[in-house]
Amino acid sequence: AVPGPEISLAELPLRPELVGEEPYGAPQLDVPVALNTNENPYSPSVLVRAQMAAAIERVARTLNRYPDREALELRADLAKYLGFGLHARNIWVANGSNEVMTHVLSAFGGPGRTVLTFTPTYSMYPEYARNTHTNYVTVPRKPDFTLDSELVLQAVAEHHPDVILITTPNNPTGTLTPVKVVEEILERTDALVVVDEAYQEFTEFPEDSALALLPRFGRLIVSRTMSKAFALAGGRVGYLAAAPAVVDACRIVRLPYHLSAQTQAIARVALANKSELLAQVDELRQACQDLQDWLRRTGLDVVPSQANFCLFGRFVDRHAVWQALLDEGVLVRETGPEGFLRVSAGTPEEMAAFRAALGPIIIHQG
Ligand code: PMP
Repeated sequence: AVPGPEISLAELPLRPELVGEEPYGAPQLDVPVALNTNENPYSPSVLVRAQMAAAIERVARTLNRYPDREALELRADLAKYLGFGLHARNIWVANGSNEVMTHVLSAFGGPGRTVLTFTPTYSMYPEYARNTHTNYVTVPRKPDFTLDSELVLQAVAEHHPDVILITTPNNPTGTLTPVKVVEEILERTDALVVVDEAYQEFTEFPEDSALALLPRFGRLIVSRTMSKAFALAGGRVGYLAAAPAVVDACRIVRLPYHLSAQTQAIARVALANKSELLAQVDELRQACQDLQDWLRRTGLDVVPSQANFCLFGRFVDRHAVWQALLDEGVLVRETGPEGFLRVSAGTPEEMAAFRAALGPIIIHQG
């Protein structure tokens, strides 16, 4: 038994809006084939690992000191990686884009403010809104899960959001929103527009990014992560690019020394090895297209995806299919519209295991 007085959550003076809430998270099950959280299946190479270890040894010498609160070297590296003439002062970095987004909503959302998203979309957004006391409003995407400026601007006229959140490619649908659409929205609203490009590197044309609009729009924020393309989900590094004033707003709300010295060092090693790490992105892009082709050939519905995952269905009982796959050691995600499941692109071996497990299930499901 755990020492101390026995007290339940119901007896604690929890904030009323948190009563009944569960901690967020996809099941972290120990399975041979994990295709459920859109991770990069390739672990860092021996060479990259050695460089990370050496970098950690170097920072360990000064771990008695606080880290660089401004993470300036890392922000300069990220600016260089993104290109588009960006400077370290255009970049903000935190523990995953989860934390970046919380900084954005802490600074620009809050009581009396509204954030607007387009569903189905990333399931963490309502939690960022709740934690920052921001009103969360959603509007459905078009039937094919795309967005156009008409739909967005109509929603803006109706809900008067302070922050508009556009995810491209969108999670869980993989759907792209063209830069042109983002531009049309920015031209017709005073709201802050956050474009979540967590999966941008996996798209067919990664350089077609909302980053190109930054010189013209001071209220645009482009969010990125090192969790996916850079295979650094465990390192927890997300970042945004925006006008320096937006970065200054994030600096006001962040906790002091929020990004550890180890995190900064590891991220810099990953960026220094970008050609090696991004080479695997090309493989995964192809793996995801092959995966979609195969799913379609089996007769399933597949939502065309530009990310490293896709939605497939429709199943009368998607939970039964999810469970049947799990019984074969393959973990996918039960998320998205009714009847669909989401699967991430993996290694050739993982994709073969997925196909081998799903084939007989489809026949069985009829
Ligand atoms: N945005 C989107 C659309 C995502 O799918 C994810 C991860 N699943 C994130 C942000 C968060 O990524 P991280 O916090 O690891 O940077």
